[in-house]
Amino acid sequence: MIAIDPATDILGVVDVQPTFMPGGELPVPEGDAVVPAVNRLLAGPFRHAFATQDWHPPGHSSFASAHPGKAPYDTVTLAYGLQTLWPDHALQSSANAALHPDLDTRRIDLIIRKGNDPAIDSYSAFMENDRITVTGLHGWLRARGVRRIFFTGLATDFCVAWSAEDAAALGYGVFVIADACRGIGLPDPRHGDGIAAARHRLTQRGVRWIGAEEIAG
Ligand SMILES: [Zn+2]
Repeated sequence: MIAIDPATDILGVVDVQPTFMPGGELPVPEGDAVVPAVNRLLAGPFRHAFATQDWHPPGHSSFASAHPGKAPYDTVTLAYGLQTLWPDHALQSSANAALHPDLDTRRIDLIIRKGNDPAIDSYSAFMENDRITVTGLHGWLRARGVRRIFFTGLATDFCVAWSAEDAAALGYGVFVIADACRGIGLPDPRHGDGIAAARHRLTQRGVRWIGAEEIAG
């Protein structure tokens, strides 16, 4: 069992938005299943959490619709490298871009919006896909004395994986609570094909994949 220290452990809640759930614009299979799983963790041992929220302007460069002749899930080369293209999703101020209405936000201290720059996509909670522009999350976590981050949310093989990898590189203890995440299963230029490849690569980098039942209540 893993004992949570409420002072130095934090729950990371990645992109728990209807746009990434069945019925949304970019649905992750069973994406809505993370909501009760995350709520249980927020009601339990964790006292602090941060959330990310994908938040795109119309015509964002990650949308296939912004690239004539391209379809969703094709890749293009942007100024910073390979970028997977997506259906239009997470449109700023749309209902589906809000945090899920059933998410218990009372212990969420900080919400990081990402993907606001029309020219740069942003998977990681820490850094945009140009791998230069930071979100400020690292400074906020350091100022609060956070040592370990437990990730939940969507999608396992993109925004969760990129966030977890960056967190490990920054020196945090990093856990992915697998049953509080769901994945897409698409090829990712950084992690290879799908959820198993993401898990393999991240495990090599010291990220631990756990189940919610391993966390002491
Ligand atoms: Zn997005």
